[in-house]
Amino acid sequence: MAKIGFIGLGNMGFPMATGLLKEGVDVIGYDISESTLIAFKKQGGEISTSIANVIAASDVIMTSLPSEKAVEDVYLGEDGLIENGDHTKIFIDTSTVSPKLNQKLEEACHKQAIPFLAAPVSGGVIGAEKQTLTVMVGGKREVYEQALSIFKIIGENIFHVNEQIDSGTTVKIINNLLIGFYTAGVSEALHIANKKNIDLDDLFSMLSVSYGQSRIYERNYKTFIANNNYKPGFSLKLLRKDLEFAMDVAEKNQLDLPISQKLLSLYKEVEKEGFGDKDMAVLYERVQKQSELKEASK
Ligand code: NAD
Repeated sequence: MAKIGFIGLGNMGFPMATGLLKEGVDVIGYDISESTLIAFKKQGGEISTSIANVIAASDVIMTSLPSEKAVEDVYLGEDGLIENGDHTKIFIDTSTVSPKLNQKLEEACHKQAIPFLAAPVSGGVIGAEKQTLTVMVGGKREVYEQALSIFKIIGENIFHVNEQIDSGTTVKIINNLLIGFYTAGVSEALHIANKKNIDLDDLFSMLSVSYGQSRIYERNYKTFIANNNYKPGFSLKLLRKDLEFAMDVAEKNQLDLPISQKLLSLYKEVEKEGFGDKDMAVLYERVQKQSELKEASK
């Protein structure tokens, strides 16, 4: 098995990289957070303090980064991946970034003859820990086939969408647009139940045998709302980022998506109010807070 360099050992990257370690793959990790690197070493990973060293020591370099800026810095920055890469390495970005950035990175990789895949993932931290992620891959089929054994370690359902570099990202953005809808829907629906003194556990059981249930309702309620704990998970600001990508695609293709547009405005507003670093399920708390404020102002 190829030796893997893993850049970005956060909520997703850390369990993905340790999943590879568990299966006996050699992994060299890099992150700007020193405490994260120490934690990765404790799991048996090798660590590095420079991107150049990660490349020199590995055959395949995977990234899981939180923003467009972080991805641009790591790939296109001085002493970054592209500057140090060549045709003998494969780069795989599992971050959710815009289709535009997928294309920019593919172009830059192409100039250096570096094989590149954009492979966003779905399934959350639990999916990464259980190695059951869904992986949606865009890029050359030949490169996908070379990387397939790695995808099969981090995930359970692996899809090569097509050879367009941003095809996996488009599927991922559609997925996250729906997550945005469901999260808002669950927040408002549970608020009605609260007001009408319906026990939330009972509601969950009843809707689990009705059409109103969804995987997001299950995730947001069972892991976060029921425990009154909003440590992410998937932070609200990351969801806002993905909704922005969806609206960029809509604008570029002249699509009129009024409800999606409203959702993006809602998440932007909630992030501004200071909820951005909490799990997206915190929208439930915010719906209640807004309602209390409205009542108090009557
Ligand atoms: P995170 O913020 O928890 O982790 C990002 C990691 O990258 C951090 O450890 C940070 O220190 C590191 N980092 C930031 N800038 C860096 C740089 N320049 N060089 C090296 N390391 C750097 O984010 P996350 O939740 O793990 O998400 C990562 C990506 O995966 C995002 O694009 C997100 O949209 C996507 N994603 C997240 C989830 C989820 O449930 N959290 C699910 C699917 C996809």
